[in-house]
Amino acid sequence: MTYSDLRKLAMDHLWMAYTQWNDLAAEGGPVVLVRGEGCWLWDVEGRRYLDGVGALEACIIGHGRQELAEAIGRQLEALEFLDVFRYASEPAIRLATRIAALAPGDLNRVFFVTSGSEAVEAAIKMARQYHVLQGEPYRIKVIARRGTYHGCTFGAMAVDGNYWATKKHFFEPLPSFGRFVLDPLSVEELANLIEFERPETVAAVLLDPAGTASGLAVPPPDYLPAIRRLCNYYGILLICDEVITGFGRTGQMFCCQHWDVLPDIMTLSKGITSGYQPMGAVVVREPVFQAFVGGWRETFAHGHTFGGHPVACAAALVNIDIIEREALVNRAAEMGRYLLDGLNTLHARRCFGWARGIGLLCGVKLKRDGKAGQTFVNPAVAGRRARVIARELGLMTIVLHPGDLLLFAPPLIIGREEVDFLVETMDRALATLEREKLE
Ligand code: PLP
Repeated sequence: MTYSDLRKLAMDHLWMAYTQWNDLAAEGGPVVLVRGEGCWLWDVEGRRYLDGVGALEACIIGHGRQELAEAIGRQLEALEFLDVFRYASEPAIRLATRIAALAPGDLNRVFFVTSGSEAVEAAIKMARQYHVLQGEPYRIKVIARRGTYHGCTFGAMAVDGNYWATKKHFFEPLPSFGRFVLDPLSVEELANLIEFERPETVAAVLLDPAGTASGLAVPPPDYLPAIRRLCNYYGILLICDEVITGFGRTGQMFCCQHWDVLPDIMTLSKGITSGYQPMGAVVVREPVFQAFVGGWRETFAHGHTFGGHPVACAAALVNIDIIEREALVNRAAEMGRYLLDGLNTLHARRCFGWARGIGLLCGVKLKRDGKAGQTFVNPAVAGRRARVIARELGLMTIVLHPGDLLLFAPPLIIGREEVDFLVETMDRALATLEREKLE
């Protein structure tokens, strides 16, 4: 099949997530990728792209790892699947043990799911059932932050901070337990909100510690410790959504470790297998888990048929081996600094707003009000155009809320020359964008 045949069939039959058919049509259809190696991806016609966002922030160890393919193949031959509600597989037991050892403190118990949204759903349900079991059935609210994204299912949308792409107003009525802090870095606002809502009705505070979707608002040193203290004081569970940040991306194995904070519940996905298999997990502190030990009433009322799929667990184990063997967590810290320094050299471009981030999770904000030549006013139009220009120049990126924040989260194996290519390509993309003067 030719490239144009594939693109036509895609336009006729494929429905791609968070993507407008007309936008794809204007580009002649989706780019069809066929191969990956290291930090690079190739399309059907052999064009090469630097994977600047690690396949939706999932790819930690790079593409095309033979070891992963072999581990997956071995597990498929031994036992492709089992009833995970009633039986345990050896890879699931070994992976739970491994994650418990990697996670800080007594985050010792691992509940497997198949995606980040499912991890968030399970974490919320755990928090809710936990409080009921503790004799506090009125603790039902979950406080999250403006601008955040926690997934696309109804429970996750209930704690979505009006992230621009989720359009949660279309899906009202949503479950009504979500409450929101408008300033994502204000502990004072959070404390006031807890008091206003009445602490005895709050089940959990849920946040993504690096503030990825809410504009990479990386917190100051005392932010997360102060929230931990607040949650302790009021008996509220702290849930850290580490779906993007887990497994080294920010320069620590888990982002909350930058501030030495122990959440009660941690959600994981993406980097857990580097995307070699779909998987998610909820990691829980021992005292929370102990509340669920008892009879039928105490049993956690939750489960997905494919949660803890043995093939995904086998992939995750080898993924973690590679992260440790190649010291990718330290590498993320080092290369993250190099990338951010590089992105900041683009400040002279008129449409460059700022660059910031943590580890290999950085973004460039486009500036809307370049004075000497108004470049654009609509952030989503400009962001989309910048993304397409960069891709045409051989660099993949995505945009975050509200459409004009270009994200870079490459595989952690990225080298200096590849970072240089990324920065130079962004420079060329911004130069082109400035010339185009979008509306
Ligand atoms: N939580 C965070 C912080 C995320 O960034 C995402 C996805 O990007 C999710 C949850 C949802 O994960 P998934 O797309 O696997 O459902």
